[in-house]
Amino acid sequence: MECIFCNIKDKKAEAEIIFEDEHVLAFLDIQPVNYGHTLVIPKKHYDNFLTVPKDELDKLIHATQFIAGVVKRSLKADGFNIISNNGHTAGQSVYHFHMHIIPRFHNDFTIKPMVKAYASGALREYGEQIRSLISKYKDIYIG
Ligand code: AMP
Ligand code: ZN
Repeated sequence: MECIFCNIKDKKAEAEIIFEDEHVLAFLDIQPVNYGHTLVIPKKHYDNFLTVPKDELDKLIHATQFIAGVVKRSLKADGFNIISNNGHTAGQSVYHFHMHIIPRFHNDFTIKPMVKAYASGALREYGEQIRSLISKYKDIYIG
């Protein structure tokens, strides 16, 4: 299936590339939340966060840390958000895994979802529900 980020990686589609090495590519988002909004992708195609192999993910996270620092410094930003949308419901629109780096400036905008409150005992129940699958799957986790 046609993938716009693979096309950018293969130089078949244009993008404002700011960083490239053997494994990772970073370019400016064409619909920035703030100017300088950057996307970091693995050069190999993986649909989302859960399907990226550990070695590739290590490299991608390390590159994201480096690029975030440079974006912040070069734009004199006050901070930045690192975001990864996974799945349609979570806002993913391009199914080639990517990290968003969004530079943030004092008083630019607020992202403030409504927070929930746990009913009595529910915090423990959610913890147990998740922990039971952690036990089941922990063998596939390589720390
Ligand atoms: P997401 O919604 O998390 O999947 O993010 C996809 C991002 O890719 C959006 O913020 C888009 O603006 C951005 N995007 C889509 N096509 C391009 C493109 N050709 N060049 C740069 N950014 C793009
Ligand atoms: Zn792709």
